[in-house]
Amino acid sequence: MPANRHREAFRAALTRIRAEGRYRVFADLERLTGRFPVALRHTAAGPQEVVVWCSNDYLGMGQHPDVLAAMHTALERSGAGAGGTRNISGNSIFHVELEAELADLHHKERALLFSSGYVANETTLATLGKILPDLVILSDACNHASMIQGIRASGAERHVFRHNDLDHLEELLLQFPLEQPKLIAFESVYSMDGDIAPIKEICDLAVRYNALTYLDEVHAVGMYGAEGAGVADAMGQAHRIDILQGTLGKAYGVIGGFIAADADIIDAVRSTAPGFIFTTSMPPVVAAGALASVRYLRQSHLERRMQQANVQRLRALLGDAGLPVMPSTSHILPVLVGDPVQCKAISDRLLTHHQIYVQPINYPTVAKGTERLRLTPGPLHTPAMMGNLVTALAECFAATEVVAVA
Ligand code: PLP
Repeated sequence: MPANRHREAFRAALTRIRAEGRYRVFADLERLTGRFPVALRHTAAGPQEVVVWCSNDYLGMGQHPDVLAAMHTALERSGAGAGGTRNISGNSIFHVELEAELADLHHKERALLFSSGYVANETTLATLGKILPDLVILSDACNHASMIQGIRASGAERHVFRHNDLDHLEELLLQFPLEQPKLIAFESVYSMDGDIAPIKEICDLAVRYNALTYLDEVHAVGMYGAEGAGVADAMGQAHRIDILQGTLGKAYGVIGGFIAADADIIDAVRSTAPGFIFTTSMPPVVAAGALASVRYLRQSHLERRMQQANVQRLRALLGDAGLPVMPSTSHILPVLVGDPVQCKAISDRLLTHHQIYVQPINYPTVAKGTERLRLTPGPLHTPAMMGNLVTALAECFAATEVVAVA
């Protein structure tokens, strides 16, 4: 392809994305320690304070004094980077302690760290397909892109079951001999609808049809269960999950991903997964911060309680104002817009007219026609912030002439 043909192809792709109203523009936002969820938005006219309503730093742990202190200490002690893969640079004390803490939290024999939750999903699922001969993977239709990529790369036979549809899952399971290796891959809290999987019933099917269970608890760890071990733990089902996957980048406020499972599974993934073996490991300073965050949220319930109280309060306020809040059962409150251009217009107006930041969620993150604003109330949002948000949303919906469809 000649060079100008390359350029044309890139431009055509961008033109298509723009025409569909889903060209992504990132806000220039500076997080402010001690002020979250207030952030500084940098504009041509100068910096402006905005209230963030869509952060995945769900509990404000990204600014927690314990986390910052642990990171300062580790930075002074061990420096900036890890210096290589775990194979090259070895295990820092922070990696070892964090993996032990996560294994203990999830009542599994061992845990394994990855650069991110995305990498944990992608490389673990891809690797399971290589290790288990004739593996069939059954994947929920709403699974995250990282799981989908991992499942594709696994080379395993794969089938997608309708979202949270137990009958469809069973129908698929029935097609395979009992002795054939099977894996059911699903999430606990689905991040765009905020709904929760029927974990017990899926585990029942897994037992009946001799399947392993792989559960992504990225939007649940830190927030659900007595110690923040996630929804499976809160439902008393954690022992039935073979491989639990999570992130250190959302409720724990740092970055990184992990899996927790039996020692043999962890050892096999550790020994063969390219996304673990061939990449520089998490910096010790990051592991130290995540460790402090996990430990803190195991013993403090305040943040979880305040988050849940604020979720209930905001849900009621949105409903009272007639705003089309979707029927979620978690801390994620999606407000349906249903059109990409209007979704972006509302988001822009919230920012420019009301100093409120909520990014638009468009295809391919959600299906076309279900574009939405995804609100994530946390423990640090005040009643005044909630009142302002609801008034501003009502004004923006009216100004952009979107008909509420709840
Ligand atoms: N799994 C789910 C369900 C997610 O929503 C995300 C990210 O948004 C990930 C995995 C990836 O996690 P991380 O952001 O730590 O890479």
